Amino acid sequence: AKLPGNAMPWFGMDIGGTLSKLVFFEPKDSPTTQTEDEILSNVTQYLTKNSAYGKSGHRHAHLQMDNVQICNRLGTLHFIRFLTSEMNNFLDLSKKIGMADNVPTVCATGGGAYKFEDIFKNELNLKLRKCDELDSLIRGLLFTVASNNNECYSWPQCTEYEQCSTQEYTFQYNEYPFIVVNIGSGVGVLAVYGPNHYKRISGTCIGGGTFLALCGGLTGCDTFDEAIELAAKGDNLKIDQLVQDIYGGDYSKIGLPGREIASSFGKMNSKDKWAQASPEDVARAALVGVTKNISSIVRPWAIIEKTDRVCFVGNFLHVNPIATKLLSDAMMDYGYKAIFLNHERFKE
Ligand code: ADP
Repeated sequence: AKLPGNAMPWFGMDIGGTLSKLVFFEPKDSPTTQTEDEILSNVTQYLTKNSAYGKSGHRHAHLQMDNVQICNRLGTLHFIRFLTSEMNNFLDLSKKIGMADNVPTVCATGGGAYKFEDIFKNELNLKLRKCDELDSLIRGLLFTVASNNNECYSWPQCTEYEQCSTQEYTFQYNEYPFIVVNIGSGVGVLAVYGPNHYKRISGTCIGGGTFLALCGGLTGCDTFDEAIELAAKGDNLKIDQLVQDIYGGDYSKIGLPGREIASSFGKMNSKDKWAQASPEDVARAALVGVTKNISSIVRPWAIIEKTDRVCFVGNFLHVNPIATKLLSDAMMDYGYKAIFLNHERFKE
């Protein structure tokens, strides 16, 4: 039998363009009914097994939060992700274990909460309680930084990311405005004016999805982690055309240094050059190009919104020090502070 509205287990989903994120609260205090006990052990067994989400699925064991109290229940929060393209797998497995018969409602955000709403309803008899993704992003961010003083970090002024360490940053989250840049499949730029007041001011379709797709197509790599590993070993200067490649040095009249990229991938204008290009250099150029493009669209908005704080979030920044350092440098050049979240840079 279905349990009433506030019964366990509690789930939340964020179904994005590339990744579906699932959070699951497993109560550890004594269950209130025998039915709850049975349902819980069934669902927990299923959800805490990595095999449950296809090969792209992953439970972030080190993100797990124990002894969390939610609505008078004490338990563990589990964090899981899988590729949204594997949603059918997830639905099939949920059906098989009868999870949907037991779970009353799932809170869901992201575009997929709309796209998959009918499928969840018709195939699983599961109702999605939809929450707007940008509302969830801003509320979640404010909650996270308010709850944890050590959540934010920034890069100091230094040349190479390998040779310097990040610094703790205390985010004055109750001082407004500030800018949030969400780098997922695509990129959204938001100005936050107050706890319940924000506006999407800009965005670009060249985001994390673009990086992943370009790397896959051009280097043959198959996962985001592989793409980042390749990029870490590569040199984009063999692929990109610099100002000095065109001018022989700086373009001094307008203050453009010779080492500035004039054209991303600009050296790759013949078959021969592609034949000689290494996957590492190509991956690095894709990473640098996508990241620099994002900083270019963000900078004018810091001027318009009269703020010097820009907080970058989204899974593109997942264990991606090359991108966070580049974003930080680009912001610092103009006197702005780039802020990042610690939970996005954990190692698996
Ligand atoms: P969305 O909600 O649009 O899926 P996310 O914030 O989850 O956005 O970020 C998705 C991006 O994160 C991908 O386009 C990719 O660049 C990057 N990414 C990080 N980890 C992974 C992963 N394990 N699989 C696929 N993409 C990943």
